[in-house]
Amino acid sequence: MQKTICHDRGDGMTNETSSRTHGFQNHEDIHYRFCPVCGHALETQVIKSLEPERSVCRRCGYVVYPNPKVAVGTLGTLDGKIILLKRGIEPAYGRWVFPGGYVDRGETVEAAGIRETKEEVNLDVKIESLLNVYSYQGRPVIVIVYAVRVIGGDLRAGDETIDVGTFGPEEIPWQELAFPSTGDALREYINRYLPSEL
Ligand SMILES: [Zn+2]
Repeated sequence: MQKTICHDRGDGMTNETSSRTHGFQNHEDIHYRFCPVCGHALETQVIKSLEPERSVCRRCGYVVYPNPKVAVGTLGTLDGKIILLKRGIEPAYGRWVFPGGYVDRGETVEAAGIRETKEEVNLDVKIESLLNVYSYQGRPVIVIVYAVRVIGGDLRAGDETIDVGTFGPEEIPWQELAFPSTGDALREYINRYLPSEL
């Protein structure tokens, strides 16, 4: 399916464009106005000269540190073709990505990858190896991607998934990928695991 023969890398701006189109606000980039501890208005202040300005509560002293969010993704194949899904939620609604999602606090990254893969495409997977970790200047999400092996289940779209499919390396919808990490991880995965197919 989705026979798109194009190796354009897609630089991720498509995500922002899509977000604007849908009126979506990126909740990972949200700017807090009130103290999450006591509800007092926050003020902006330089605390350490080499660090960005912080939002500080003058009533209770709480400082907001906008830590990155950790997401996990899994890349695996069925009959030699890479498993992708079409996102049914923002951001990047309607775009293709491999299974994945946010890691819950206290959950192992591996367990989150297995859980998200089951939720999104109804496949049971075993973690094989770490593919890589993807982070980008100015972006709030760090994406950890594993190569996985399918050990059960049948490929089926979950609640937040519009469609699922498997793609040979020459069939990847490069122009319709969800995030910068999607294309980067796919290229790395294909180079490492399916190089003869290129
Ligand atoms: Zn406060």
